[in-house]
Amino acid sequence: MKARIFLLIALVAMVSCQSKDPVERRIDKLLSQMTLEEKIAQMTQVCGGQISDNIAEQIRNGAGSMLNSVGAEADYYQHIAVEESRLGIPMIFARDVIHGFRTIFPIPLGQAATFDPDIVEEGARIAAKEAMQAGLRWTFSPMVDVARDPRWGRVAEGYGEDTYLASVMGAAAVRGYQGNDSIVQMAACVKHFAGYAASEGGRDYNSTWIPEIQLRETYLPPFKAAIDAGSLSVMCAFNDLNGVPASGNKHLNVDILRDEWHFDGVLVSDWASLQNMNNQGNSANLKEATKLCMDAQMDMDMESKGYPRHLKELVEEGKVSETTIDNCVRNILRMKFRLGLFDNPYCYTENPEYFTPESLSAAQKAAEESAVLLKNNGILPLNNNSKLTVLVCGPMANAPHEQNGTWCFDKDDAMTITPMMAFRKLAKEGKVRLIEQTGEHWSREFNKENITTLVRLAKQADVVLYFAGEESILSGEARSRALLNLPGDQSEQIRAIKATGKPIVLTVMAGRPLCIREDIDRADAVLYAFHGGTMQGTALANLIMGKVAPSGRLPMTFPMGEGQIPFYYNYKMPSRLMAKSPKLINDIPLRAYQFSVGESSYWLEYGNKPLYPFGYGLTYTTFEYGPVVLSDTCLIASSPYNLIASCEIKNAGKYDAVAVPQLYIRDVVGSLTRPLRELKGFQRVNIPAGETRTVTFEISEQDLAYWHLAEGVSLGSEGEYTFSAEKGDFHVWIAPNAAEGEYVQFALVE
Ligand code: BGC
Repeated sequence: MKARIFLLIALVAMVSCQSKDPVERRIDKLLSQMTLEEKIAQMTQVCGGQISDNIAEQIRNGAGSMLNSVGAEADYYQHIAVEESRLGIPMIFARDVIHGFRTIFPIPLGQAATFDPDIVEEGARIAAKEAMQAGLRWTFSPMVDVARDPRWGRVAEGYGEDTYLASVMGAAAVRGYQGNDSIVQMAACVKHFAGYAASEGGRDYNSTWIPEIQLRETYLPPFKAAIDAGSLSVMCAFNDLNGVPASGNKHLNVDILRDEWHFDGVLVSDWASLQNMNNQGNSANLKEATKLCMDAQMDMDMESKGYPRHLKELVEEGKVSETTIDNCVRNILRMKFRLGLFDNPYCYTENPEYFTPESLSAAQKAAEESAVLLKNNGILPLNNNSKLTVLVCGPMANAPHEQNGTWCFDKDDAMTITPMMAFRKLAKEGKVRLIEQTGEHWSREFNKENITTLVRLAKQADVVLYFAGEESILSGEARSRALLNLPGDQSEQIRAIKATGKPIVLTVMAGRPLCIREDIDRADAVLYAFHGGTMQGTALANLIMGKVAPSGRLPMTFPMGEGQIPFYYNYKMPSRLMAKSPKLINDIPLRAYQFSVGESSYWLEYGNKPLYPFGYGLTYTTFEYGPVVLSDTCLIASSPYNLIASCEIKNAGKYDAVAVPQLYIRDVVGSLTRPLRELKGFQRVNIPAGETRTVTFEISEQDLAYWHLAEGVSLGSEGEYTFSAEKGDFHVWIAPNAAEGEYVQFALVE
């Protein structure tokens, strides 16, 4: 009998082993050979940046990954891992390659403004190609934190305020980094899981309170989209979410990421985030934080030192099981197999190809597409004119370090084309006459002499091209701002130039939306260009001179002033309707009767509108949008047929240009209140002058679905959430931005 049972067990084990994927079998084999110490080392990411005996020793002991070790140094350490560690498991070298490695593309917020997922994918592909030549196989990108507060400096690193746009762009970036082959090029890491951008007051690292339904509706979909696109890894966020730091948050990391989404890639901590959990006060020491992160199934510790110091002890005390450890190591090894590291651990080359014509031209295209024309009284484009004298000035006119933006450790300022350089070239070609502002200038500068000089130079010019903005250090991680003005005396400079009577073309190169209504008022034309990278100078010159027509659209609402923040387009209808022309603070008569100004939802200083809505952007032509035509007035639930919404767009001007029609939907009545509009699709359509194009979008039942409470369950009770569409009326727009257009109605019916 005993023998028979044994035979049966052996048979089951054999069959299950044979049915396993070959990679899983190789992982099983490795796991069976690894000591506990080697497993813990595999779960540890070591920081490089120098050749040191101590690091080499950690690698010999089996360290799993390294960050910030690049080029020959990474290659040196990889040889140690493969040749000198007991099992020869290759390491994976990681770095923040966020918007380019050597060739720098616009910051992700600028990339979002392109509304062009193809260029985002191409940028990521080029970044991976360049970074791999320096031995890197893992980037901590894309950041898909939906960000509604421009005070938060990290808005620069993400794709803006909209869930759908962030989902599309994040997925495109993942495809670009990882490629389409069975062997992944460079592993993407979608971050920061989750809710990080909701930090209170826009202050980085601050805590967040996000109700489950909002978490699922607004913040999580871009992560899911990136994982569906194949992202091999996810990074935890720094924030505490509803009282539980994200790194040790079981609800996020186990219930949602592993159990619901079945993610089998690597979950890595953010930098030292286990130590931060002690600051946040949910654990008394690093050992407790380590235990919490293991309970939340976090695979790898980036620089917290919690795993290498405390995991073994926790296992020996029976507080963490070896099965949990094995699962983490399995995920890490699986990522290495998917990258083909066991067969091909080395990718460093001594003669890398950086800044190729292909990379530079893609970076230029991205910078051209990311600039948003906010205002134009007709002065733009300037067009080639050898008699036109332009003054090129402002702190961002010739500042390569600044225009590359945040997070680009490997850029080369000497390869960066600034607007000044681009206009020098045009002057040489006889296309303009150039006056240059000389000397070094920066965005926070206060300098009266400089203002006097600018006024003198402006008087000699026909038009002033003023490049304003923020230095790169003013946005990005830990760079929250309370005032979103142009720093230094830039506004004073603009005011003084305006007083000369010369027309001003204001170009803003910044890491976030700024509240610069008065500066915009003083300008004749305004291009909002973000930090645009290596080729931004050429791109801006092309736009200003009319070689290329602007096509960027705002990925975030631009508020009138900081007091409107957070202000995003897909808010819900307030309980009192919004007045068409609200009475502003100075219109209210003295001793006005309490209800005499009406009871509606607005700010006394600003009214109820932002300065510019999400999706907004002008170009050198005008587009006329025809009415939305629907293929039917009803969409039948659970049927395989979708609705088709279409509309004609006419280019009514003299320039060929790109229209960016945006599909918005509103669920008129829901069991939970619904946003006024939600973006569900967009396209870039090139329309030659005078011509008309018909654009079409499909609307499926899935597009109407949202997270709400299951039927019969009330808020606050224990209940299941459900993701589905509710029957009823819907409005649909095909519009040039989130504030314009006329809707048509359809119904979702049984
Ligand atoms: C940031 C991450 C980044 C990591 C590694 C952290 O401070 O929050 O986004 O990937 O550092 O450099």
